[in-house]
Amino acid sequence: MASVSPERRAAELRALLHQASYDYYVLDRPTLSDAEYDRLFRELQTLEREHPELRTADSPTMRVGAEPATALAKHTHVVPMISLGNAFDEEELTDWEERIARLVGDDARRAGYVAELKIDGAAVSLTYQDGVLTVGATRGNGVVGEDVTTNLRTLRDVPLRLRGDDVPSLLEIRGEVYMPFKAFEKLNEERVREGEPVYANPRNTAAGALRQLDPSITARRPLHFFGYTVAVPAGTRLPFETQWRLLETLERWGIPVAPHRRCCASLAEVHDWAREVEQTVRGALDFAIDGGVIKVDSLRLQDELGVVGGREPRWAIARKFAPDIAETVLRDIQVNVGRTGSLNPFAVLEPVEIGGTTVQLATLHNFDLIKAKDLRIGDVVQVKRAGDVIPQIIGPVPEKRDRRNPPVPYKPPTRCPSCRTPVERDEEEAATYCPNVACPDRQLEAIVHFASRGAMDIRGLSYARIEQFIAESLVHDVADLYDPELTVERLTALERFAEKSAENLLEAIEASKKQPLSRLLFGLGIRHVGQTAAQLLARHFGTMEGVAAATADDILAIRGIGEGIALAVVAFFHDASGRDLVRKLAERGVNMTEPRSVSAGAALKGMTFVVTGTLPTLSRAQATELIESQGGRVTSGVSKATSYVVVGADAGSKLEKAQALGIKLLDEDGLQALVAGEGS
Ligand code: NAD
Repeated sequence: MASVSPERRAAELRALLHQASYDYYVLDRPTLSDAEYDRLFRELQTLEREHPELRTADSPTMRVGAEPATALAKHTHVVPMISLGNAFDEEELTDWEERIARLVGDDARRAGYVAELKIDGAAVSLTYQDGVLTVGATRGNGVVGEDVTTNLRTLRDVPLRLRGDDVPSLLEIRGEVYMPFKAFEKLNEERVREGEPVYANPRNTAAGALRQLDPSITARRPLHFFGYTVAVPAGTRLPFETQWRLLETLERWGIPVAPHRRCCASLAEVHDWAREVEQTVRGALDFAIDGGVIKVDSLRLQDELGVVGGREPRWAIARKFAPDIAETVLRDIQVNVGRTGSLNPFAVLEPVEIGGTTVQLATLHNFDLIKAKDLRIGDVVQVKRAGDVIPQIIGPVPEKRDRRNPPVPYKPPTRCPSCRTPVERDEEEAATYCPNVACPDRQLEAIVHFASRGAMDIRGLSYARIEQFIAESLVHDVADLYDPELTVERLTALERFAEKSAENLLEAIEASKKQPLSRLLFGLGIRHVGQTAAQLLARHFGTMEGVAAATADDILAIRGIGEGIALAVVAFFHDASGRDLVRKLAERGVNMTEPRSVSAGAALKGMTFVVTGTLPTLSRAQATELIESQGGRVTSGVSKATSYVVVGADAGSKLEKAQALGIKLLDEDGLQALVAGEGS
């Protein structure tokens, strides 16, 4: 690079960054990683600072985003939507503070800062006229964006009307549309099932969904919104004077605001916050962030500081984090047999550090995903750690394949790696199964799961112990743990088993008989039945008998339970081996009931609700929370058992059904009145 003239390098960088921005913003298909983009962007900024004559009007350093795509109508923002400058470490943040001090003296430092999560989504602006949502637009090039109003209306998080009597008559709320990791993964699993290519990342998927020409496609995408600022025409009076109060007001008006924000009295506190977020908060979030945004708290000072180059405010800066994506070599693909017999492939990686942790293994979900991503053993792959602790493989970097000797495509196993039984495919679930119920790996995993902390919580029953019991043919299934013949004498006859630990283990097994039905249901390892579903089932039916006798429709009536779970539960009890196992457990004294829980607020106790349509201020999740906090239940389908249907705008078939059945209807105010105990 040293041999290239600054002029040529600047031209090269401009071309590279323009192309990357186009791929990223217009096509929603990034061709560079963000870290790579940021590095090249910085290189260009530095070159331009050193050689101001090289700066061109169309340089990416002078612009925000990209030109709006052509198919959608254009929208001009009341006040331009800008980007942010970056600080990659604490020193750069200190430089920023000093730059501010040179302009406004110590005032900013005294006013303090607000630190917010930097949501890695798609920037949008929502226009409210007299409190009603009239326009929703993308950022576009900052001045002109795309009108995506109908699409944004499909987001449950975006209020169609703001609450409160202090909302300015013309107001733009700026924020970020994002897709949670879990929802993104689910969407990709569905795509695999439908034979569609998988999406690259939640950010570009959210941006793409937002810019659909058909709003019904957007509506089917799980998009969410966080607001972080407002823009108003000059001269408008706002009911707050600081960024902190602004965020509080947004919440009061009904706009979701990102969690984990902090009011910091000094930059030292900002550093602490950033460290905390990068090290502990980030990994636990269900949405992507690429850093924090640090803002001068006083809005008067924000105004005074203004914007530099039409692109970056002086009063705010992005504190970017180290990327949580890294490249490494995929050494091997290995396969585990799960408790339900599913074959679970995972990646063995050349160890690589991502966000401070060494990663060697990554989940691969299923064989279809390996095929969809065309992952080959020996490939250089991009690995991401996000949302939870299990790292994910984004995909291979095909350009890094040895052209003359490329790795061969991966072939999934045709026999179970544990018992060699030929595997079976479940097309619907894109899963491959070992059908052998006596498969030693399946048995082992089933018992490990049953004894685990979230399930029956049998202390002292370690992985190694279970392996030993299976090898000695002491147990074959979970009911065998409660076999009266499993005595201290039998256990101490085994290798490495002291009398005391045998006694303790048998006590723990005995104690586990009293666990509530929800834990037992989860412990049984019924396909798709996780902890939450198990709790919902247990609370709804109360007894194992009730669950076993339920039809798929009965189960589907429980809110939060989908068809996959309902069918799997029915299938489990339909199968003789499932019924026998439960009978054996019951005979051996395992509890089969769920204790009734008492809730704090009880205004809606014993009532069942269905929420349909768009409520004026509450999102569906908020309405549900409100009802449940008062002891009510929310279900998805209207039946004779429904006490009330809460109806909002554009309600459809559920309203018709409620009317046909003569169920009482409520609007949002009616619901609030009921909660307040005013009857209906
Ligand atoms: P940015 O994403 O770095 O920061 C500005 C944006 O942050 C704002 O527009 C706003 O929408 C958002 N934001 C999120 N939370 C916020 C909060 N709490 N307060 C204020 N703003 C908040 O800048 P940008 O101009 O949107 O995009 C540039 C970045 O996009 C690059 O740094 C790069 O990471 C990425 N990019 C990548 C490629 C690629 O090829 N991979 C191409 C172009 C851009």
